[in-house]
Amino acid sequence: MPQTKFLLPESDIPTHWYNVVADMPNRPAPPLGPDGKPLTPDALSAIFPMSLIEQEVSAERWIEIPDKVRELYQLWRPTPLFRAHRLEASLGTPCKIYYKFEGVSPAGSHKVNTSIAQAYYNAKAGIKRIATETGAGQWGSSMALAGQMFGLEVRVYMVKVSYHQKPYRRSMMQTWGAEVFASPSEMTQVGRRALEENPDNQGSLGLAISEAVEEAASRADTNYALGSVLNHVLLHQTVIGLEAKKQFALAEDYPDMIFAPCGGGSNFGGAAFPFFADKAAGKNVRLVAVEPTSCPTLTRGHYAYDYGDTAKLTPMTLMYTLGHDFMPPGIHAGGLRYHGDSALVSQLYHEKLLEAVAVPQLATFAAGVRFARAEGIIPAPESSHAIAAAIDEALRCKETGEAKTLFINLSGHGHFDMGAYDSYFSGKLQDFAYPEEEIKAALERLPKVSL
Ligand SMILES: *Cc1c(COP(=O)(O)O)cnc(C)c1O
Repeated sequence: MPQTKFLLPESDIPTHWYNVVADMPNRPAPPLGPDGKPLTPDALSAIFPMSLIEQEVSAERWIEIPDKVRELYQLWRPTPLFRAHRLEASLGTPCKIYYKFEGVSPAGSHKVNTSIAQAYYNAKAGIKRIATETGAGQWGSSMALAGQMFGLEVRVYMVKVSYHQKPYRRSMMQTWGAEVFASPSEMTQVGRRALEENPDNQGSLGLAISEAVEEAASRADTNYALGSVLNHVLLHQTVIGLEAKKQFALAEDYPDMIFAPCGGGSNFGGAAFPFFADKAAGKNVRLVAVEPTSCPTLTRGHYAYDYGDTAKLTPMTLMYTLGHDFMPPGIHAGGLRYHGDSALVSQLYHEKLLEAVAVPQLATFAAGVRFARAEGIIPAPESSHAIAAAIDEALRCKETGEAKTLFINLSGHGHFDMGAYDSYFSGKLQDFAYPEEEIKAALERLPKVSL
């Protein structure tokens, strides 16, 4: 087999993040405060440092990456780009398939690309503590690591169902010095209220966000950090796509289609946006966000103003949403269970500049296993969504004889998800399509916003 791996030297770690806002045909819709008026940057300063707020609202195309952040990126960046020769052969497809592996980071996923940056800016602003939430544990462990690197205390509200399902993610956060509480917890008003209503509440990402935001807003030494969705988070993740472009140049190739799993949209935006810059300049490249049929935010959600959390403590943003009180079914791609989506991804999708597909759970595990058997790497269940969609395309091309170049963002490894693989092998996993009535009902509960 020919060379399958495209490596860059450390000097090729990007020096700047790419801000897609500069190339969007329309300015992003503003987030709204509780009074229904566009939010002022100051309103966010209780929970975010000014440097990140500036990035959140910036329209500058390039934003410099601080040296200290680039130094820490060297722990795992540049990440490798592989040509999936063996997967191609197993599919018998005329397509070329490439994947970039973000699972080589210490926490095992792309999320450290932003946690390191967020910890840096918070420490620089004199903040001592970070309160955050985590669903499956990927973000919590990334933030725990970053906090440790910059001397910040980290408190993590972990969705209760995952807290019990994934004890080793918890141990990982503790190893890096973070405190972890099952959410809903007794630590916050929001948590206590939820437990009063239902002592068995298994938690949701929306609820855990409310707990972390409540804590950050009530303490001057504490800020909040979010692992996806926000503009500055997607900005930090663009190191993925920027490196990938250089690696495709090394491979003397260019993708026709890019597939990335989509939860809040950060790894999708990070991988796809640098290619969007080419698309905006006239190049033909299709950018495909892949989500679960059980949490079909882009493919079946409402494009509307909604809150980012259950208790409505966050601003309202114009996004695709299943409703801020969405209670996710217990699927195993924990990182893809958020009710909303990045405002930038949502707007570009609404303008038909991005695409989205939803994949059922069993198909994603079948794809993940097929990938592991061909390429060796065991993907995170989230990443397997992108693999499943790329395999579907490769098999379609087999019928039509088209030889496309497909690029998968392999956002993380699945070493902490073997319980989910176990359930798959023992036939316990099921497909779940989110019911249409629930989607309709959520519409009723969206905030009424008149613009
Ligand atoms: C969190 C996570 C995702 C999804 O989150 P995005 O915000 O959409 O990037 C995908 N893959 C892995 C491995 C994750 O940890």
